[in-house]
Order: sequence, then C-alpha cells, then structure tokens
Amino acid sequence: MLAAIVPEPGRIEVRQVDDPAPADGEALVEVTACGVCGTDLHIIDGTYHASYPAVPGHELSGTVIEAPAGAVVAAGDRVAINPNLACRSCRPCRRGMPHLCEHAQAVGVTRPGGFAELCAVPAELCVPLPETLPLRAAALMEPVSCCLHGLSVITPRPGDRLAILGAGTIGLLMVQLVRLHGAAPICVSEPDAGKRGLALELGADAAIDPASVDAGEAIIEALGGRPDVVIEAAGLPATAQLAVQLPGPGGRVLQFGVCEEDVEVAIHPRRIFREEITVAGSYTNPFTDDRAVELLAGGRIRAEAIISDEFALEDAAAAISRAREAESLKVLLRPGA
Ligand SMILES: [Zn+2]
Ligand SMILES: [Zn+2]
Repeated sequence: MLAAIVPEPGRIEVRQVDDPAPADGEALVEVTACGVCGTDLHIIDGTYHASYPAVPGHELSGTVIEAPAGAVVAAGDRVAINPNLACRSCRPCRRGMPHLCEHAQAVGVTRPGGFAELCAVPAELCVPLPETLPLRAAALMEPVSCCLHGLSVITPRPGDRLAILGAGTIGLLMVQLVRLHGAAPICVSEPDAGKRGLALELGADAAIDPASVDAGEAIIEALGGRPDVVIEAAGLPATAQLAVQLPGPGGRVLQFGVCEEDVEVAIHPRRIFREEITVAGSYTNPFTDDRAVELLAGGRIRAEAIISDEFALEDAAAAISRAREAESLKVLLRPGA
C-alpha cells in the first residue's frame, strides 16, 4: 500500500510499504479520509511523544475490509476511528480515566495511522457510522469528540459569556458546540480575517483581531464584561497567558490548544482564590465518539464549513505545508481518491 511516513523528525516521504497485517482483535480499514491535525505537525517536527518511523493521522474514516469474528463491526461497515487505546489496568484507567492511561497507545502517534491506504486498528476503536454521515465529514469525529470532552470539563451554561481564543478547526467547532450549550454572547479572537468571518457565520456574536487591538480589552468590551468561560484553542504563549487573565468571578478556563513543552504563563493566586477561578485542561476524547457522530450526522456541526482543502495521499507533503498556512482550516488527505 501507499503510505506517508515520517522516518525521523523533520522529514515526510510517500512510498509503497507492506500492507498492515491485522493482529488478533484488530480490524483492517481502507482509509477514505484523514484529517491533518496540529498534533500531526508536532509529530513531523519531533515535538510530540510519537514512535518513529511514524505514519501520522489520527482523524480517520473509512470502510472495514476485514474484522475479527464477534467484533462490533464487520467487513463493509463504514466507520470513524477513535485513535486512543488504554491498557485498562493502570491507576488512571482503574479510576475511570482511560484517556490518561499510563500506557496509552494511539493510532497515528504510537501506532501507524491514517496517512495510508490501509490501517489496522483494534476493532473496539471502530465507531460505526449512520448512512446519513458521509465518510469525508466523519473524519471530523475525532476533533469533535475531543471538543465535547473539553466542554464536559468546563460545562458552559446557557447565558454564560464565552471567549474563544483562536478560530482554527477547534475554535470553529467550539463556537458551534457552545452555541448548542446556549452560551451567550460568544466572542472569538483570531488574527485571520477569513476565519473571523467564518466564526461569525457559525454562530459567534463578535470576532476581534488580536493583531490590531488589545485582545483582552476588545473581548471584554464585546462581551459586555469579563467572560464566564474562556477556551484557549491556539496553543500559543500569548493566548495561554490571556486565557488565565480574562475570566470574571466564578470563571472557568479551558486549556485546549497544544503549547510547546517549555511554555510557562504567570497566574495570580490571590485572584484565583478570591474570584474562584477554575483553570482546567482537557486531553483527548473519553466516551464522546457517539455524541460526536450524532452531532455531525444531524448537521448540528457543519463539517463542510471547516474542511478547507483536500489532497491525494501522494501529495502528503503539500498537504502538510498547506496545514501550516495561517488561513487553512481542516486539511484532509484522501487515500485512494
Ligand atoms: Zn487531532
Ligand atoms: Zn491504563
């Protein structure tokens, strides 16, 4: 099969490799679409905990061509893949937090992923799709499910003032999801004009440009006061710092973006105490796949608005370059297309 491989950090090459041989309990999936995520860029750059040589790609959908007897899926089923596999016996797993597993494996990170024509995955990671959800849109199941977990951590409520820092794929999914929670008003901070426009189209009440105004002041002005919930969806030092400064009394901050390892920000313990500020993180997507599928299939989340580009697998290097450009959103690889 054809696969895009990162032999070591800094290099990606597309070449023929042996077809994966599914192990016991694994299904073989023909990949239809695989999203390029910021995490993939970190893996290619060597700044994420991947195993090399790596086949990136953890946001994949496709068709099962081989499945073990008794699995939830069978040959011919259309599926999206939850990339995260837990050991089920470490302390976090036993305490109901499989996403924080000490021995976690992940398709496209520690195991070969979806930047390939075929992908072997434990059958339990296959999420069957309804007829109404096209495979192209289903490639967004994984990012949507991660957003749903993030929102379960900070629980936005109807009428909460909400600030979202960054309107990339995650920021724009979050805009749509917090609308469903009833958050209002919603203000997005994003330097790219096209993404600001899309944020407004998808339900934000205001979109400010942090490159031309003081972002904190502009957000507070747009919301009519300090936000009750702040979602950091950029993974940058400046936005991570702003996120912990912004919330008003009782406010909650979600650090969702992936910052570089060495990023540190200042916090103000007295204010955190006095105003009961919660600063939380969220990591991956425990038990949220099915809700993500429902939202995508029902059109509550507009996947098509988020997909900006499609590339054949042969053009994986171009897809990666495109994903690094500020104005791109979700870039899809389409093996076999
Ligand atoms: Zn991702
Ligand atoms: Zn575990």
